[in-house]
Amino acid sequence: MVQKGGITMTNFQTVYQRSFPVSPDGDPYVQNDLGLYTHNHPVPPADVATRRAYLVGSGIGSLIAAAYLVRDGQMPGENITILEELAVPGGAFDGSGDTEKGFIARGGREMGQHFECFWDIMKDIPALEMPAPYTVLDEFRITNENDPNRNPCRIINHQGHRRDAYRMGLNRKGQLAVLKLLFARESDTYYKSIEDWFDEDFLHSTFYTLWKTMFAFEQWQSLTEMKRYMHRFLQYMPGFSDLSCLRFSKYNQNDSFVVPLVRWLKDQGVVFRYDCLVHDLEMTITAHRKVVDTVLVRHGDGTEERIGVTDRDVVLVTNGSLTECTGYGDMDHAAPYSTDELAGWELWRNLAKKSAVFGRPDVFCADPDKTVWESISFNFIGADHPFLRKIKELTGNDPLSGRTVTGGIITVEDSSWCISLTMNRQPQFHGQPEDWGVAWAYGLYPFAIGDCVGKPMLECTGEEILKEYCYHFGLLDQFEEIRSRTKVRLATMPYITAFFMPRGKGDRPEVIPDGCVNLGFLGQFVETPDDCVFTTEGSARTAMMAVYGLLDLDRDVPPIWPAQYDIRALLASAKTLNNGRLPGGRLLARLLKGSYYEDILPS
Ligand SMILES: Cc1cc2nc3c(=O)[nH]c(=O)nc-3n(C[C@H](O)[C@H](O)[C@H](O)COP(=O)(O)OP(=O)(O)OC[C@H]3O[C@@H](n4cnc5c(N)ncnc54)[C@H](O)[C@@H]3O)c2cc1C
Repeated sequence: MVQKGGITMTNFQTVYQRSFPVSPDGDPYVQNDLGLYTHNHPVPPADVATRRAYLVGSGIGSLIAAAYLVRDGQMPGENITILEELAVPGGAFDGSGDTEKGFIARGGREMGQHFECFWDIMKDIPALEMPAPYTVLDEFRITNENDPNRNPCRIINHQGHRRDAYRMGLNRKGQLAVLKLLFARESDTYYKSIEDWFDEDFLHSTFYTLWKTMFAFEQWQSLTEMKRYMHRFLQYMPGFSDLSCLRFSKYNQNDSFVVPLVRWLKDQGVVFRYDCLVHDLEMTITAHRKVVDTVLVRHGDGTEERIGVTDRDVVLVTNGSLTECTGYGDMDHAAPYSTDELAGWELWRNLAKKSAVFGRPDVFCADPDKTVWESISFNFIGADHPFLRKIKELTGNDPLSGRTVTGGIITVEDSSWCISLTMNRQPQFHGQPEDWGVAWAYGLYPFAIGDCVGKPMLECTGEEILKEYCYHFGLLDQFEEIRSRTKVRLATMPYITAFFMPRGKGDRPEVIPDGCVNLGFLGQFVETPDDCVFTTEGSARTAMMAVYGLLDLDRDVPPIWPAQYDIRALLASAKTLNNGRLPGGRLLARLLKGSYYEDILPS
């Protein structure tokens, strides 16, 4: 029992009976079986009105943390300052452009219903286009329920030919290797790579092609993260072949999420400061306490600023960055691959020198050749554009209808760059003309030699990359017309999969590292029990954990959806992995026939 402002609080986690052991690593923080019972309004600390918060970075993780500080911590908005090195908010959640240059987003987000922490806040943020009382969650849901996502053409080969993606192509050994990985202790996977565990047959299977392109894994990357993805996204396996497991926002994610969230935060009085690179924190570190005393800010013109904080204040740092050093290109210019300015990593490196609890940034950022890839925004102009016609031929969907088009990525399986392309509902951007179709694309192996242009992707201009795509989509004979009616924008991101580098315990800081009283970490390079990186939800979860932890709020972080413990999800996934036949299915069907549990068998 805890006394707060005269009210007695109960710690649900320790008091109530548990129905079953719910955490594989014994961590009660993100695992509980209490459901909506935990959706209470927590009582804030008595002194919250006098406390301040400084949030380093304005990515979605930071914005959500600010929202939790206001909604659940009841911290006055004007006490919260967001310090961002760039000139705009949103971080990796970007989206911009015009009809002259073309539109660009560095990424397109596959999203799902089980983004528990993300939707927990988005259900309270006023909608972008709908009137009150509708929220961002309502808008997202209405969009998706009225226009469910489905990709009728997940894989193509032989220059524009669709092929079946339902048969996973895993032999018995490959299926057993998946099972073995699920059963392995996480510590047995530390510093191992995917190719350490799986053989060549597996790496060439349809299953792995779907897997690596959907999640952007490369085979030299972390087995630990692959395991976490398998536990986390198990329930989606039956929807892998047509991506019916996914949901997408109506517009690019900057317009769909950052714009309404920033608008709401500003309405609450939250202060946004740009051109503020936080390069270090001055701290007092003793045996059991680590306290931030000063936030050190460098401005673009080289001037320095010192912001003093007390041990009752809150400092939240987004450490590391997947989009740091992005090099941009266009139709005529390759996107430079440069790793010179590591500003976003500088703060983490400086903190790591102060204490081992702050992790080891170089595990993730020291070898960008292993983490770089390039994304492309293709702007196809005109309703009768040959590429739009081809997309319609492959998917059966009219790209300019405003409804789902490709429903997630189409992957070219025989491309040496391992290219994919997706066209979400159009328009994707405000100001996008109605006869433009903007597609997002990427190549997983940017150092490989292109099959048509004969060069590594990283050395190619937008025109050359467009040509390679035309070749693989069977449109090379129409290249001249396509070139004259397409604008291309490129983004090379050296650290885009830095969080997938093989890792072990202690490489990433905990959300609130041991002994920290006013410092928490947010984002993609932070340890969260069981959850995954490269997801919006991962950043949202760290935001919730940091705010609830540092303000000592008595509200539970929702557990990760426990599909990995659900026999129905396990059986459905086993059936998917085995090409649509449930191993032991006939025996199970006989055993369960006529019983209450007959329905657990996948249809
Ligand atoms: C190409 C691509 C595809 C993706 N696909 C998906 C997907 O399919 N599904 C999904 O859920 N997620 C996806 N993501 C991931 C998702 O976009 C990110 O996980 C999320 O946006 C990260 O948010 P963040 O706030 O943690 O960090 P970031 O977005 O990296 O934000 C960090 C911010 O902090 C600023 N900053 C950093 N250090 C400092 C400093 N020291 N001082 C001041 N400012 C600083 C940076 O400029 C940046 O604005 C994708 C991302 C990309 C780029």
